[in-house]
Amino acid sequence: MTATLLDGKAVAKDIRDELEARVTNVVQRLGRPPALAIVLVGDDPASEVYVRNKLKTAEDAGMGVNLERLPGSSSLAAVLAVVDRINKDPKYDGILVQSPLPKTLGADAEQRVFDAIDPGKDVDGFSPVSAGRVSQNREGFAPCTPAGVIELLVRTKTPIEGKHAVVIGRSDIVGKPMAALLLHKNATVTICHSRTRDLPAMARTADILVAAIGRPAFVTPDFVKPGAVVIDVGINSVTSAEEAKRIFARYPERLQVFQKRGSVLVGDVHPDVAETAGALTPVPGGVGPLTIALLMANTVRAAELRLR
Ligand code: NAD
Repeated sequence: MTATLLDGKAVAKDIRDELEARVTNVVQRLGRPPALAIVLVGDDPASEVYVRNKLKTAEDAGMGVNLERLPGSSSLAAVLAVVDRINKDPKYDGILVQSPLPKTLGADAEQRVFDAIDPGKDVDGFSPVSAGRVSQNREGFAPCTPAGVIELLVRTKTPIEGKHAVVIGRSDIVGKPMAALLLHKNATVTICHSRTRDLPAMARTADILVAAIGRPAFVTPDFVKPGAVVIDVGINSVTSAEEAKRIFARYPERLQVFQKRGSVLVGDVHPDVAETAGALTPVPGGVGPLTIALLMANTVRAAELRLR
C-alpha cells in the first residue's frame, strides 16, 4: 500500500484564503487589521525560524504584527512586564510568547508566562483558561497545532466519529489538547506516552494515529495498522550524517537535502510508514503549515470577538 499524502500546505492555503474577507471586515469595522504581538526571548535558532515564518505569514495576510525581542539574559519579571503591557494595549488582539523560553528563566517560567496572558488575547491557546475551555468543548482558543490537525482531517473528509484515535505524547500544547479535540469529534481516544507498555501494539489498534513525541522517525511500520491515517506532528532536525543515512537509506532525495544543508527535517514517523498507512502527513508540508494558519485564524477571531 502507498499512503495518500495529506497535503497540509494546500489546506493551510485554503484556511488563509478564507481569512482574507474577514481581515477586510475587521479593517472596516475596527479601523485597523487584526494585530498580533510576538514575544521572543533569546536567540534559539529554531525559534528564530518559527518566528520569521509567523511574521511573514501575518504580513502576507494583511494583518498587523509586531515582534518584541528580549535578550536571553532577561529576568522573568521583565518578560511578565512585557506580557502585561501587551495585555493592556488595545492595539493588539493576540499575543504569542515563543516557546521554549531560555532555561535560565527557571523551570516554571513558561507556565507563569502563559498564566499571565489575557485569555481574550491567548491566540496560542496555552493559558490555563484556554486549556479548560478546550477540555470542556467551549468557545475559546485551542492550541494551533492540534486545531490544525482537526482542520486537516475535516477538510480532507477523513472520518473521525467512532474511530479509534491513538495520540502518542501528552504535552499540554499538543498531546492533551489533541486528545480532547478528537474526543469532541466523537473519536474513541487513547493517549500513549513514555511509560506506555508495548507501545507498538497499542498504536496498531489506531484508525487514526497521531505522533507528537519529538523523536525522529520513532514510529515505524510495526506501529501502524494497514490503512490507518497517520498524522506526524514531529519536527526534528537531524544533523548527524549517520542518522540521516539510517532513516533515509531508501530516499535519495531526502539524503540530498542533508548533503546540501548539513541537516534534514524528519518527523516522528519513519518514512517507510507510507507503505503501511492509508494516509499520512508529510514532513515538511504536513502539520507545520497548518499550525501557522490556525494562529492567523485565532488572531482574526480574537479581533472579531472585540467587535461583538
Ligand atoms: P514534548 O517533549 O513536550 O512532549 C513529548 C511527549 O512524547 C511526552 O508527553 C512524552 O510522554 C512522549 N514521549 C517521549 N518519549 C516517548 C517514548 N519513547 N515513547 C512514547 N512517548 C514518548 O513535545 P511537544 O511539544 O508535544 O512536541 C512533540 C513534537 O511535535 C516535537 O517534535 C515538536 O517539535 C513537534 N511540534 C510540531 C509542531 C508543528 O507545528 N508541527 C508544533 C509543536 C510541536
